[in-house]
Amino acid sequence: MKKDIRSYTFEQLQEELLTLGEKKFRAKQIYEWLHVRLADDFSEMTNLPKNLREKLAELYEIREVKMAARQESRLDGTNKFLFELCDGNMVESVLMRYKHGNSVCISSQVGCRMGCRFCASTLDGLERNLTPSEMLGQIYQIQKISGERVSNIVIMGTGEPMDNFENFLTFIQILTDEHGLHISQRNVTVSTCGIVPRMKELAEHNLQITLALSLHGSTQEKRQELMPVANKYQLEEVLAACDYYFEKTGRRITFEYSLVQGVNDREEDARELIHILKPRNCHLNLIPVNPIKERSFAKPSRKSALNFKNKLERSGINVTIRREMGSDIDGACGQLRRRYGTEGSMKEN
Ligand code: SAH
Repeated sequence: MKKDIRSYTFEQLQEELLTLGEKKFRAKQIYEWLHVRLADDFSEMTNLPKNLREKLAELYEIREVKMAARQESRLDGTNKFLFELCDGNMVESVLMRYKHGNSVCISSQVGCRMGCRFCASTLDGLERNLTPSEMLGQIYQIQKISGERVSNIVIMGTGEPMDNFENFLTFIQILTDEHGLHISQRNVTVSTCGIVPRMKELAEHNLQITLALSLHGSTQEKRQELMPVANKYQLEEVLAACDYYFEKTGRRITFEYSLVQGVNDREEDARELIHILKPRNCHLNLIPVNPIKERSFAKPSRKSALNFKNKLERSGINVTIRREMGSDIDGACGQLRRRYGTEGSMKEN
């Protein structure tokens, strides 16, 4: 099988080229074609000698991430993309346009095995991990298709990045490398359901990326109800791992909390949440749950969500309600992919 050339870090590519008996500077040229000019074929690399291009094409592949569908919100310009991978699997990504720049939300796995109760991405379990090139490919294709520069990346689509840890780290390295797209680490956010050993390991890498923890419950019991991963890691351990990340990197943690009506949006939930967050330098992002038809969870009314937010705010917690983007298109994680999978008839628009 041909090697996946877009998954090599700059240093690894240099070594590959030296092994092939090529000069080091060729690595720089090829890396630029792959990660700045976003070439999808070796034939585009016109400043390389023809025989090198041919040699590369024999040994390596530039793994395809091909747009299969696109939905555009009429409300706020949010674009949702469905990409087909080389083995026919599909992943979703989202382009969000904000005043401060474009943000892309990518998937890290095909499916997910974490089983969070309200999430559509996990209903069919995990199919496979994405390679670094397939994570990058989502961003590169969106940049090419939209013709717009992307400045912020969130790894919050389908999948659990800490369950695909090595590939995730390589992806971050390539994404933020000065020879590539050179996205600032501070403009990258990774979201995890709370895999404690990997969170600690990530802290050791001393990156400047933001860590977002999916909290969703303010007690161990409540978390266990919504997230099977909580059976493995106690809330206390998860919070200690967040503290460790903050200590090591100086980066403030973002806590995500999907508000589910009657489940975690009550008075006592707010009280417990304040108890957890008050001593911490953090940000809380409330996400009114996006209902999926397979489950009976409902989102609280706007008024009730605001009420919840105000309670926290009055206690000095830094809190926002996530603005709903693209509410007129398949919003919740994994819904577009599922719809495509079951109906197979979605048209590009
Ligand atoms: N596996 C990672 C990242 C992917 S999910 C994680 O668990 O953090 C990104 C965020 O969206 C998580 O906080 C997740 O719990 C939340 N989420 C998933 N489905 C949702 C839904 N239907 N409504 C609201 N939030 C949802």
